[in-house]
Formats: sequence, structure tokens, C-alpha cells
Amino acid sequence: MPTERKLREEIVRYGRMLHERGFVAAMDGNLSVRLRGNRILVTPTCVSKGAMRAADMVIVDPEGKRISGHKNVTSEIGMHLLVYRMRPDIQAIVHAHPPTATGFAAAGIALTEPLVCEVVMGLGCIPLARYGTPGTSELAQTLEPYVPNYDAILMSNHGVVTYGDTLEHAYMKMETVEHFAQIALVTHLLGRQQPLKQVEIEKLMVARSRYFGAKLAAAMPIPQAPQKFS
Ligand SMILES: [Zn+2]
Repeated sequence: MPTERKLREEIVRYGRMLHERGFVAAMDGNLSVRLRGNRILVTPTCVSKGAMRAADMVIVDPEGKRISGHKNVTSEIGMHLLVYRMRPDIQAIVHAHPPTATGFAAAGIALTEPLVCEVVMGLGCIPLARYGTPGTSELAQTLEPYVPNYDAILMSNHGVVTYGDTLEHAYMKMETVEHFAQIALVTHLLGRQQPLKQVEIEKLMVARSRYFGAKLAAAMPIPQAPQKFS
């Protein structure tokens, strides 16, 4: 396991990448990593993710109580605690508002169509959780049904949360979700979609178990008839 110092630097690095790519604006977004003893290293509230320092991070216990750090913990800590509690395999979480994926979340459209083979293999599909007020337990409750079976979730009228066995993997899933949302948007603009067929999805499942073993939780999408959008 990397040292705490290294993990602090990783949060700074991936926070900067979120900001550079426009996945967050102003003080949006938050990142966290699980430390030994089920403590969580997490970004503070009211700090640009593009201008954080390693010393800014806060450490909380599994109930979210601050045990180290000078700043206040992110108000979305409840969402992070929920994912760590439900998924012992998860070591890091990223939450952001990437504009295209968040546009889908604001339009009430899940990213569940099997349109791109590598997204199907890596993430399965990206479900849409109903809206919950940020900073309240309601928000975590909306995510709860999806956390066991998915590694990326759209949050209605809000943004996206992704998680993985390292911060790098959690961050990469965020990039994949936004990239896939852009591709899905193009299919909407073109007015038609050609989802992968069931037989092709089954082959991807075999390929996934070869690449990822049993480590990946993400459920496979259910193929649907091609859709037309007006
Ligand atoms: Zn948010």
C-alpha cells in the first residue's frame, strides 16, 4: 500500500486533472482514498480541485468524524463513507460534474446502452440514481441500490461518482464516463443508435473475466432494440 504522503500527492494530482479537463468548476468535486484502519483521506470543502496542496487533506474515521487536518471535510463525505462501507474492494473514490455526463444526468437519461465495446467491458453500464440533496443522507440513499453492482453512477441533476481499487483507476473511470457520454451524445445527434448484440456482449464478458478476473463489479448492460431519437 502506498504511504499516506504519496496518497496525498495523488489526490492533488488527480484533483488538478479533474480541474484541467473541466470536469469540475469553482469548488466542485471531491476525492478520497481509504487508509489503514478504515480511516479515509479526503479533500476539504471550499477548495478548488485545481489548487490543492497535500497538507489540505482531511482524515476522518468510518463515521465521518474528523481526526486530522485543519480544514473542514467535504460536505459529500456521506457518499464516500457509503461506498467504502458497501464495497470492501474499493480503495478510492472520485466525484465530479463533467459537463456531458452531467447533462445526461440532468436530462434524466442513464448511460446504459451497450454502444462501445470497451466501455461495456470496463464499466458495464452507468445507471442513473434519482436526485438527492447534496450534503444530506438522502444523497447517499439514492446511490445505495447501485453501489454493489456498478463502479460508476450518474447522479440525477448533479454529477457522477466513480470508484476503484486505486485512485488512478477511480479517476480513469470518470474520464471513461465523460468520453462515453460524448459518444452517446453524438449518436443522439445522428438520430440513431446501433447497440451491441447479446452474443457480442457475452463475448465481452468472457474477455472481461480474462482481463480483470473477478475483481470487477460492474453489471453488464441488457441489450435493447436500436432506438431512434427525434
Ligand atoms: Zn457534487
